[in-house]
Amino acid sequence: MRRNPYSSAEIDRASHRREVDDDIEDLLVASKTRFVPVDSDRNLIDKRGKPSAVFIQGMMARAIIRGGSHPIFLGLVEGEAYFALDVTGFDMPIDGLGEFMDLRQVGPLLFAREGSLLAYARGMTYWHRRHKFCGVCGSPTRVAKAGHERVCTNESCKAQHFPRTDPAVIMLVHHGDHCMLGRGKHFPKGMHSTLAGFVEPGESFEDAVAREIYEEVKVKVSAVSYHSSQPWPFPASVMIGFHAEATSMDFEVNKEELDTARWFHRDELREENLPKDGSFFMPRRDSIARRLIENWLGHEAGPGPNG
Ligand SMILES: [Zn+2]
Repeated sequence: MRRNPYSSAEIDRASHRREVDDDIEDLLVASKTRFVPVDSDRNLIDKRGKPSAVFIQGMMARAIIRGGSHPIFLGLVEGEAYFALDVTGFDMPIDGLGEFMDLRQVGPLLFAREGSLLAYARGMTYWHRRHKFCGVCGSPTRVAKAGHERVCTNESCKAQHFPRTDPAVIMLVHHGDHCMLGRGKHFPKGMHSTLAGFVEPGESFEDAVAREIYEEVKVKVSAVSYHSSQPWPFPASVMIGFHAEATSMDFEVNKEELDTARWFHRDELREENLPKDGSFFMPRRDSIARRLIENWLGHEAGPGPNG
């Protein structure tokens, strides 16, 4: 099955190696080890020609580590180690290397593996910057397990904190030849997408799909089927994608949650029938929302709403 962008199938996370400090020390000084610099959630990109990820090595990386940035072990790609390095606040000489930018601006243009590494690095550094203090007792935390854990430094607390990913369901609701697309209040002008929302404690994914759809457009669904998922560390989610079958076409848009939503006939969504005045466009190509729509329209092979 086709993978969604930013998924990390090509990265061997080698999680057992996080446990062994000496092992990580060896990897840190290995000559081929690469570091993924992240500055305030932005990744370093070389935009000359086809955009590509810029990794740093050797002395430049060691200077940043000596300056107090903790390397986060991401894993191995073709046997070589990759670490994320938060360089926020460091005066890193990047002239001629590239520029720091939001991965979402170039993600679809990168090689899949590079996009995955950059997204992973961004997600990890984001989590570290926000968990410098213990949520239980308020004491400072320290980095452990090669960056995959933070531990409270208060001896009587010692709470462990783990990188956090917030699950969100995203679903294309359909009824016969119609599907429901809407506009969130903060969407770029003209963009229409699938419905989505965060999973709450005590819910299954299927429960969350049904609840969100009902909350947003007052539509009840009968069948909910899983399609695929996508890491979305912008800043800290994983999107779990579904197709859902509505029991009827009656609906009512919740104006608190959405700007607008309605049923679209599949013919309306054909490339040649889409308005060219900017009043309607689909979600970005690297998003699972786009893929759910394309899949339902039959523009790609693979499991669709009808199996
Ligand atoms: Zn604590």
